[in-house]
Amino acid sequence: MLDQSVFSTDSMMPITQRPDIVFSRGQGAYLFDREGKRYLDWVQGWAVNCLGHAPAVIAEAVSRQAATLINPSPAFYNEPALELSNLLTAHSCFDHVFFGSSGAEANEGAIKLARKWGQLHKGGAFEIITFRNGFHGRTLATMSCSGKPGWDRIFAPQVPGFPKATLNDLDSVRALIGPQTVAIMLEPIQGEAGVIPADKAFLRELRALCDRHDLLLIVDEVQTGCGRTGTLFAYEQYDVEPDIMTLGKGLGGGVPLSALLAKKAVSCFSAGDQGGTFCGNPLCCAAGVAAIRSLLSTGFLDETRAIGNQLAEGLRSLSRELGLGEVRGQGLLLALELGADVASQTVETARDRGLLINAPRPHALRFMPALNSTASEVREGLCLLRAILAG
Ligand code: PMP
Repeated sequence: MLDQSVFSTDSMMPITQRPDIVFSRGQGAYLFDREGKRYLDWVQGWAVNCLGHAPAVIAEAVSRQAATLINPSPAFYNEPALELSNLLTAHSCFDHVFFGSSGAEANEGAIKLARKWGQLHKGGAFEIITFRNGFHGRTLATMSCSGKPGWDRIFAPQVPGFPKATLNDLDSVRALIGPQTVAIMLEPIQGEAGVIPADKAFLRELRALCDRHDLLLIVDEVQTGCGRTGTLFAYEQYDVEPDIMTLGKGLGGGVPLSALLAKKAVSCFSAGDQGGTFCGNPLCCAAGVAAIRSLLSTGFLDETRAIGNQLAEGLRSLSRELGLGEVRGQGLLLALELGADVASQTVETARDRGLLINAPRPHALRFMPALNSTASEVREGLCLLRAILAG
């Protein structure tokens, strides 16, 4: 048990079951606990640390910015926010950016923007079609927007206006379109659901459906964005242009930063509609500039795709050898089906043996290593995993 009273765990609100470990340091692919035990980290802050733990470029950007200007207020411009919004619009199909601190906050902004657009252009239409098992955050609206089983009951009543369709089932979407529909919102790959990709044809058909019915297409790229799937944004791999996109997680390279991006034609907030004390603060945006510049540096994402292929191939060969199930995902957002409800036990055994992985479903493991992982780190993780799964 943890002894020193200054580090007692009693005062932390128990919002999840945490293992009795305190992490004190991270370096690249590895985390170290207080006892000095080393863990190969394939969770990386929940797909947040795109450059691994304590990357020099983020540490330098944050310390330089902290000594220069931390927060002049979102009512004024600052250089890092301008630089980051210009970087994001230059490398996407979007024109305007609003910065937040969490994925949920960015998604709240997307919901508000779609509703505002509905008020201005669609007679007050406000319903956003979302998907079963989707995940968009933990605020009241984003929980209502999510399709996580049981989330319609805890904290009832829900925020209304989020009918649920089934991913990759176009008829289920068509059946929900009515006079109050304003948008369709989805993750290109449902992450928390267990890494379930939207089919290419499905997303293209959703775009066509939106065009036909004058609806907005919103992609939640909080998990899939910022290089995670091997391209800067996952939507690029689908050959569609969404109207609105949200980013979070990897955007700040580990620092709390999210973004709501919109095409000019739908960017319809009036002054006072949207804001927040920490929105676009230069400290976090400086980290964002460093993270995005790193992802855009020559060859970076080519290497991420190669490492992603190495991991996927290794997982497939493990699955064949041990008689396990499907390997899903793209880039470095991958899942392995185990064929039985043993995922949480596997996560615990793996942690004891120095590998951090995650179980989004009782029967599936998820892998979210740093995007700059090396071939030898992947070999090390696969070797550990093989020993764990072979029992
Ligand atoms: N959207 C998606 C697709 C996510 O995976 C998550 C977090 N797992 C969120 C939104 C919420 O992000 P945050 O926890 O930063 O609010």
